Amino acid sequence: MKCRACTKKAVIKLPSHNSAFCPECFDRFVLSQVGRAIDEHKMIAPDDHVLVAVSGGKDSLALWEILMRLGYKTTGFHLDLGIGDYSRESRGHVESFASRHHLPLVVESLQEEVEGSVTDIARATRRPACSGCGLSKRYFFNRTALRIGASVLATGHNLDDEASRLFGNLLHWHDEYLAKNRPDLPAIKGLSKKVKPLVRLTEKEMASYAFLRKIPYVLKECPHSVDAKQLLYKKLLNEVEAASPGTKHAFLFGFLERIDRFYPESETTEQEEEEETYLSPEGQCERCGEISWTPVCSFCRLKERVREELAKNGEKEPRPS
Ligand code: AMP
Ligand code: ZN
Repeated sequence: MKCRACTKKAVIKLPSHNSAFCPECFDRFVLSQVGRAIDEHKMIAPDDHVLVAVSGGKDSLALWEILMRLGYKTTGFHLDLGIGDYSRESRGHVESFASRHHLPLVVESLQEEVEGSVTDIARATRRPACSGCGLSKRYFFNRTALRIGASVLATGHNLDDEASRLFGNLLHWHDEYLAKNRPDLPAIKGLSKKVKPLVRLTEKEMASYAFLRKIPYVLKECPHSVDAKQLLYKKLLNEVEAASPGTKHAFLFGFLERIDRFYPESETTEQEEEEETYLSPEGQCERCGEISWTPVCSFCRLKERVREELAKNGEKEPRPS
């Protein structure tokens, strides 16, 4: 098998692009796909300061490395979820990546801020751990971006993540989520712009990139993340992709070409989906001062519920996650 670009020995086959690449040309391919996503969706301007949300997984660490190679000004942000070995390893990879490349990094601890573990959050909200975790990530991402003056927040969602999300949203015709199923969400009401520069690259391509660039990342899965539906959607799309290469890309990008027609850019935010659409006069949480659509923001209410739950059970110390 020869590289499509230079005829050297190919190491990676990309049926969806009807191509195979040697390591050097694959590297160029990945950088050009990210560059193209950034240009086509006007994700990042040359003078932007990008806050990169880095979980310690392959996608977000590779994203940080690529944005650095493309010359963007970046700061990393990691939220330590306090989930045993999984979080210790994740944080370790993020911190060593930052120090190896001399990049600024902000780390916050969910457990310290909430004074409870992810398990306590799940118990207090009576919802799966992932939902409290997602709400907390959004809160910390926004707060950190505002604190450090970052104009853009970048996450490591890839083509598989975005296509499977679209698939799930279409199956249930979740119009409010479909309107936001895009790799670029504009800045609104003091919240920074949100972008997903890896949207043109698959999970497999990102794993190959991290391997070839020797980027160490956490291999463990979060013990709480058993979003069975999302995994099923990914599996089904991969089956279609195997039979008909390029379908995953056509599915997502066909939708993105039409999204403005179906869903003209909406003014609402992710928080509004889970809160009453009520904007307090100042638009700030009266407890923490962060931007909020309710007098007390959803994160402060979450903290309150965890405190009440722990007090009710006579527990002072958070339960291990
Ligand atoms: P996930 O929701 O776990 O699929 O992660 C999607 C993206 O959110 C990742 O690619 C990261 O950019 C970001 N992210 C997830 N978890 C964290 C975390 N603990 N700290 C910082 N960023 C995160
Ligand atoms: Zn608050």
